Amino acid sequence: MIELKNVSKYFGDTRVLDGVTGKVNRGEIFAVIGPSGSGKSTLLRLIDLLDTPTGGAIRVNGTDIHAEQRNLSIRRMMGMVFQKPAVFNATVAENVAVGLRFRGASKSKIHTRIEEALDMVGLAGYGERRARTLSGGEMQRVALARAMVIEPEILLLDEPTANLDPVSVATIEDLAVRINRDLGTTIVFSTHDMYQGQRLAHRIGVLMNGMFAQVGTPREVFTLP
Ligand code: ADP
Ligand code: ADP
Repeated sequence: MIELKNVSKYFGDTRVLDGVTGKVNRGEIFAVIGPSGSGKSTLLRLIDLLDTPTGGAIRVNGTDIHAEQRNLSIRRMMGMVFQKPAVFNATVAENVAVGLRFRGASKSKIHTRIEEALDMVGLAGYGERRARTLSGGEMQRVALARAMVIEPEILLLDEPTANLDPVSVATIEDLAVRINRDLGTTIVFSTHDMYQGQRLAHRIGVLMNGMFAQVGTPREVFTLP
């Protein structure tokens, strides 16, 4: 579903990615694992069209997403959650509704979808609360509801649990597994925690020196030859 072909990214003279090649299959959970500064965020941001590669190509369902003049339809297939829980200063419902408003959904549809999305992340009844008064873990669940409310085919999670307490980590991990299993959403997440990769991912890409040093199942990646 996502094909990375020789993807490179330089910031000025700084080489961050250099020759990332690999595939994410439809319906799988794919982990990008690497140490801090290895380029995980950079790679997810390229997939999410938040930045453009210096070289190489990223294809989604066969389309080079950065070559398209109008990549709105591809952008609409993707939801992303960032490392730092990013909620704006409004109610939880408003935070979740933004993606739907951009799509011009009707009021009743927005209302139903907000309820469903909050219910999914275990925050039913939180709609009227101010998002900034919630705990970090709850804010991250609001961010997840906001990403899921548009029913994305691809969910990108950039170190989604890096700033959370252990209970919230387990909650987010459980939600990711359920979303993938129940909705069939393809998930790409990044982590510096190889145990998290092992727990969640069907396949893992190990990012080192700007490229995938290895791509395979957790068993393949973590078992010494
Ligand atoms: P990771 O997510 O694995 O921690 P990042 O993708 O955030 O890694 O960063 C990889 C490297 O790219 C770091 O050295 C970082 O400083 C650099 N980098 C990321 N974004 C920019 C930018 N906009 N300008 C310059 N350097 C950047
Ligand atoms: P507006 O001025 O557009 O009516 P509201 O804040 O009343 O703004 O509602 C914005 C949208 O979010 C509406 O479509 C509404 O149905 C939905 N909404 C507002 N609060 C909630 C909530 N607590 N739970 C679910 N949906 C909500």
